[in-house]
Amino acid sequence: MSRLENYVLKAYNKPIRECSDAELYRVLLDLVKDLGDGLPKHTTKKKLYYFSAEFLIGKLLSNNLLNLGIYDEVNNELIANGKSLLDIEEAENEPSLGNGGLGRLAACFMDSITTLGINGDGIGLNYHFGLFQQVFKHNNQLAVPDPWITEESWLNRNERRYQVKFKDYTFTSTLYDIDVFGYHHDKRNRLRLFDLESVTGDIIEEGTIHFDKSNIEENLTLFLYPDDSDHAGNLLRIYQQYFMVSNGAQLIIDEALDRGSNLRDLADYAVIQINDTHPALVIPEMVRLLTERGLSFDESVEIVRNMTAFTNHTILSEALEKWPMSDLDEVIPEIAKIIRRLDEKMKAEFPGNHAVAIIDGHGRAHMAHMAIHYGFSINGVARLHSDILKDTELRHFYDIYPDKFNNKTNGITFRRWIMDANPELADTLDSLISPEWRDTADLKPLLEYKDDKAVITKLRAVKFNNKLRLKKHLKTSQGVDINEHSIIDIQIKRIHEYKRQQMLALYIIHKYFDIKNGNVPKTPITILFGGKAANAYTIARDIIHMILTLSQIIDNDPEVSPHLKVVFVENYNVTHAQYLIPAADISEQISLASKEASGTGNMKFMLNGALTLCTMDGANVEIAERVGQENIYTFGRDSQDIVNLYATNGYNAPDYYYRDRIKPLVDFILSPGMLYLGDEERLRRLHHDISTKDYFMALIDLEEFIDVKEKMYADYEDHDNWSRRTLINIANAGYFSSDRTINDYNRDIWHLEQEHQDIKE
Ligand SMILES: *Cc1c(COP(=O)(O)O)cnc(C)c1O
Repeated sequence: MSRLENYVLKAYNKPIRECSDAELYRVLLDLVKDLGDGLPKHTTKKKLYYFSAEFLIGKLLSNNLLNLGIYDEVNNELIANGKSLLDIEEAENEPSLGNGGLGRLAACFMDSITTLGINGDGIGLNYHFGLFQQVFKHNNQLAVPDPWITEESWLNRNERRYQVKFKDYTFTSTLYDIDVFGYHHDKRNRLRLFDLESVTGDIIEEGTIHFDKSNIEENLTLFLYPDDSDHAGNLLRIYQQYFMVSNGAQLIIDEALDRGSNLRDLADYAVIQINDTHPALVIPEMVRLLTERGLSFDESVEIVRNMTAFTNHTILSEALEKWPMSDLDEVIPEIAKIIRRLDEKMKAEFPGNHAVAIIDGHGRAHMAHMAIHYGFSINGVARLHSDILKDTELRHFYDIYPDKFNNKTNGITFRRWIMDANPELADTLDSLISPEWRDTADLKPLLEYKDDKAVITKLRAVKFNNKLRLKKHLKTSQGVDINEHSIIDIQIKRIHEYKRQQMLALYIIHKYFDIKNGNVPKTPITILFGGKAANAYTIARDIIHMILTLSQIIDNDPEVSPHLKVVFVENYNVTHAQYLIPAADISEQISLASKEASGTGNMKFMLNGALTLCTMDGANVEIAERVGQENIYTFGRDSQDIVNLYATNGYNAPDYYYRDRIKPLVDFILSPGMLYLGDEERLRRLHHDISTKDYFMALIDLEEFIDVKEKMYADYEDHDNWSRRTLINIANAGYFSSDRTINDYNRDIWHLEQEHQDIKE
């Protein structure tokens, strides 16, 4: 009897074919957890702790089966019994532990860390309701809780407890672990997610994500990034961050002591990577814990400096956290005291250098500054981004610590983003270039087939099947019908002005006019958006409203709808992404140059055979370098132009708004049809913003964007050449494997023992 049959029989006393998908899910969960329990633990002396406010891990069942090497065995057995793994995975809730690129990066990294045989855990919080679940109603985004924790989750309760002391409370934490399995690797790591037992969803107002922000005991781990537009919201963010890092720091010390550390040598036992500034309070907390255990302040500071590294993810000033010292005093006075001492120490070393102060003239503590002074490494996440940090945003730090600065271009795990999300393409690659790429991420041998007509045709057939799969998925998930024979053109990412979803919307208006004028596209076009807007970010919600309203106008217009369809995918998450990306022909990466630190969506699309339409921003620059200008579509001002424009206040929106090709597009937002279907206040506010302020310069590159898009659609009509260029993109995606990224982190920053090392490039 097979392992699966055995489990099924024990649990339900019936054969596989008589079980429901939910029953099979439960059995597979148990089977995987038991297999995990049987794996050996890491025994190396030094261990990595990856601190992150989010881990956007996606559903885990099929990925765990893949990494444990039993995917095919289980899948085949299920098929033989009339079952499908894809259907069974419907029973799994996607964990609401993250929200965007930064959290997805942390998830890819955990997969690669484990696959490379590195001893390393992720440290975070066990949010009960995530960011929120996005629901569309009357063309508006509504936010409701996104519950995911059930009996059948991947969480394993751990018996560890820690005391976390705030000014007004002392909490006893609970800890949940989620096993992380490496591909072809037998040692597992864990996500360590801290929680508080007294937290309850009962305090949330029905149908909203509002709750009493001052009720810390009951709200602490309810939501990721709770609304911080008022004082109580700011304090709650500090409560969350400190709760995460205090637990994490205590865990590090305990585990190091267990492995034989005497604390003075702690930096030989642990290295901390801080993913963005949210976990930066781990620095003063670790100093506090070490001094409490009898080390001097200066000695503790040096230990912490030698074990902490910081990853910067943004140059957007709004996202660089600065906490008023008065807020820190209100929540964690002991930590505030240590931050003041760290600030004094640094000011004594660099007298008069105000640009690098931790506490500024307004009494605000800059978390990034603290992490740079009191860590040994700071990295950006794509080459261009790291250069901008050195030359512009953090140049005063680069002047004093040139050796701390380094670049680590982001990556994505090929296990999830091709093997799991696009099995047909993965199998095709196996048969063309041998399955070795699954371990090495080396796809270059595919280039040999770039002029092979049969291979090109096969790639197009795979793309078509993925479009069919997406069609079915969208039909069941939101009742939408898309044309599988259309060009699939996708922009999926957080809704933010700098990501310029407005530009693609304005292009759609252009296309709408064009079709009304009788210029019908040869192949129909489907443009898909996905992404959440922060609930308090009004203009971002206005953008969603505009796109949903526009989509309705097009659907209602029989002249246009056969040729153009616009879909806003509701509640974009990893599950949707795994259907969307393999089906895409066009990957929209149109941020305002200099503002997108790296992007990782761009890498997933490339790997899955979409052609990129992009500004020269973030990792797009490195993608363009690898595929060559003839296999990518770039447009727009470059980052240097944009940095200069900001420095000189050189952009004036009306200069662009009044242009003949632009004004009618922007004004369509206030057309009678839009106002009839839409919310006048939202549409007017958006129109006013774009035509007068346009802080992220959506209009500056619009004309060029329209021209390049037209060229791209025209080029699509040469099907063979298009597919040939998708092959070249796939073949050059190997560099963007997160195994390569993690290899770089380990070589330059962590210096941990590594059991697997077969990374190309
Ligand atoms: C990859 C990914 C992101 C990040 O996308 P970018 O285009 O890099 O911003 C966000 N959300 C999900 C669900 C993802 O899979």
